[in-house]
Amino acid sequence: MTRRLRQLGQIIVALALLAALPGPAAAETLRVDGIRRGGTAAETRLVVETSDKAPYRAFLLGGPNRLVVDIPAAQWRAQRSSYFDGGLVKGYRSGELDGGLTRIVFDLAKPATVKAAFTLPAAKDKPPRIVIDLSASSQNLFNAALDKVHGDANLRQSATAAAAPSSAYRAEANRQLIASTTTTTTTTTTTQMVPVRKPPGMRAGAAAGQPPQAPAVPASARRVVIVDAGHGGHDPGAISSNVREKNLTLAMAKALKTELENTGRYKVYLTRDTDIFIPLRQRVAIARAKGGELFLSLHADKVSRSNVRGASIYTLSETASDAETERLAEQENKAGTVAGVDLSGEEADVADILLDLAMREKMNESNLLARFIEEALRRKNIRLLPNSHRSAGFAVLKAPDVPSALIEIGFLSNPDEAKLLNSNDFQKKMAAALREGVDAYFTKILALQKI
Ligand code: ZN
Repeated sequence: MTRRLRQLGQIIVALALLAALPGPAAAETLRVDGIRRGGTAAETRLVVETSDKAPYRAFLLGGPNRLVVDIPAAQWRAQRSSYFDGGLVKGYRSGELDGGLTRIVFDLAKPATVKAAFTLPAAKDKPPRIVIDLSASSQNLFNAALDKVHGDANLRQSATAAAAPSSAYRAEANRQLIASTTTTTTTTTTTQMVPVRKPPGMRAGAAAGQPPQAPAVPASARRVVIVDAGHGGHDPGAISSNVREKNLTLAMAKALKTELENTGRYKVYLTRDTDIFIPLRQRVAIARAKGGELFLSLHADKVSRSNVRGASIYTLSETASDAETERLAEQENKAGTVAGVDLSGEEADVADILLDLAMREKMNESNLLARFIEEALRRKNIRLLPNSHRSAGFAVLKAPDVPSALIEIGFLSNPDEAKLLNSNDFQKKMAAALREGVDAYFTKILALQKI
């Protein structure tokens, strides 16, 4: 009872603050006047009622499964209902993002995808509305849809550009209002938000263009990246004239560590920094033990056709994307049996892990990572294989909770490429490209997680 009164008091204070604002400006402020839900556990419609026609963007977030709807900064006037739970949704929260956006997060009761998203203009007694139709789906389909943005993907930029200088005061009043009303909804949500790590000096939204030039951050806030130099010790990997894959990957790993750590934003651990053999599963274990947030395994390929050249990026999947990739995965996985470690005996284990939702989420993040690396390699004019992002069952990528990619930096079977890969200049260029890919990845992940 007293809590209710206190909340009421906060709302009154907030409303008084709003009322004290200059007339015309306050009248222009967007409001959320209602949120409704309808439909069944197979098809659920969500309706956000706004005071004016508003742009929006809607997308899915995993771990736990959520639907996010962003609109320009808005006053919250919607009644909070403790009975919102139903259909595909178990509850919702809202809050403000930096940069003038209001975010509404719907917790999903089960995996679902956005079947349709559209706005409706005011009609008769109905206000303007944003309508999102959800359709029940498998977790796989949900994960596959994680990258899709419905509505205005550039909402942040447009909303920020439109923000009036005087909006800060109004935003503060609005925040109080939201803070007080949000308290009443905590009982309707059973899931917690994914903890958001503070950005290590990086700004969201810069992923598409040039990599962000961000300042160094304190050691404790640095992102942990694991760089894995393929092969080692009695396992030389591919061999070509005078270049051995195990030596090349170690030199490349050291160059990448230097490149990443020079930014001041990353702490890099190498799975090996000398010429020793480490079984594949132990490399994965090292990544987890060091708290790796990203795992990059470096290799160089060899095929019978000596004219084949170019880098390629591989992510984990249960089925290989093509026969050539399956051949490569088999070749790379052989390292497990070289030292008498029977990898096949542990496959059942791994198969179980593969079914884990967390794993599926990470596979998605791994694909994102691979895409950014591929883009960065292109920008640096590093030669790529056709269809340079492929997937297969690489044992070294099977860390269930660390987004991972394996990079074949080129082909030792091509004499010109072998010479190039072995040069300091190329290794520096490759390290810079990989660093750009890693930067873009963390920027994107941050933007997606930011609530
Ligand atoms: Zn290799």
